[in-house]
Amino acid sequence: RSKDLGGGEHCEYEPSLHASAEERRQLEFSLRKALERDEMVLNFQPVVDAHREEIVSFEALLRWQSKDHGFVSPAKFIPLAEETRLIVPIGTWVLQQACIEAARWPSHIKVNINVSPEQLIEPDFAPTVVRALAQSGLEASRLEIEVTESIFMRDAQVAGAALEEVMALGCQVALDDFGTGYSSLGYLRKLRFSTIKVDRSFVQGAAQGSNESLAIIRAVVAMAESLEMSTTAEGVETSEEAAMIRSLGCNKIQGYYFGRPMTDVDARKLVEPKLPGTQISL
Ligand code: C2E
Ligand code: MG
Ligand code: MG
Ligand code: MG
Repeated sequence: RSKDLGGGEHCEYEPSLHASAEERRQLEFSLRKALERDEMVLNFQPVVDAHREEIVSFEALLRWQSKDHGFVSPAKFIPLAEETRLIVPIGTWVLQQACIEAARWPSHIKVNINVSPEQLIEPDFAPTVVRALAQSGLEASRLEIEVTESIFMRDAQVAGAALEEVMALGCQVALDDFGTGYSSLGYLRKLRFSTIKVDRSFVQGAAQGSNESLAIIRAVVAMAESLEMSTTAEGVETSEEAAMIRSLGCNKIQGYYFGRPMTDVDARKLVEPKLPGTQISL
């Protein structure tokens, strides 16, 4: 049937496009209710020191178990939350919950929290961070905000100013998924990032023998060192990859090899001091 027949037969045209728009509408409807329905939960993934192999931080990663749609991947709902600006209330919830959880860990363990550009350009961003810290009692120096290069695509001035505000509070800021965006290196001069996170694609590439990936990791590590920033390699899955990353001079490692994203209870168990008397007595 050709399109020019017209009349109420739209379902014949591009059915896949139509279905995905409808799916999106339903997903958005559910996402709007997700927080009040208690469907969101944070997982925590260890970040370890590359040499001592001890946990130095956990990255908070959002999970959505929807009553309507089942488990929905962040790769799907985060972009939708950004487009609809639902990421603003959701992101505030993430900040509050992650800080509350981190305050339970020993004080040398930090927390990494992902923040979207839409959150940063809200005038209320820095006050939201201040409130999350105050409510949880978490020291500002234990919070590292993660942003991607996409924050420099639009409203770079506003986003940069917001990051400077949270840095002035004593928080750190990491540049996530480094090397996968479009931006220039210019902003590395302007903002004092604490950490550059080398994207998993370079780690995978180098592990599969790509000299280009290897060269890029080397260059990023050298650049970070001279800028007095640290490096974290993302997506390290094997002991071989961990050894390679260590030999390249990355400071921190994150990936399935050292730990998958886990529940708050499991994360807590990994870092809580072993109390005398809690061992099984024979
Ligand atoms: P990201 O910030 O780069 O987080 C790392 C992603 O890599 C996580 O995916 C993590 O589960 C995954 N990962 C970690 N180690 C490995 C590994 O060894 N192998 C593989 N294959 N994957 C690994 P996840 O949890 O699906 O999150 C995807 C993205 O969604 C995150 O990427 C982040 O950009 C976004 N996201 C997650 N939680 C939040 C949040 O609370 N707020 C915002 N704004 N974005 C979030
Ligand atoms: Mg991240
Ligand atoms: Mg990342
Ligand atoms: Mg990533």
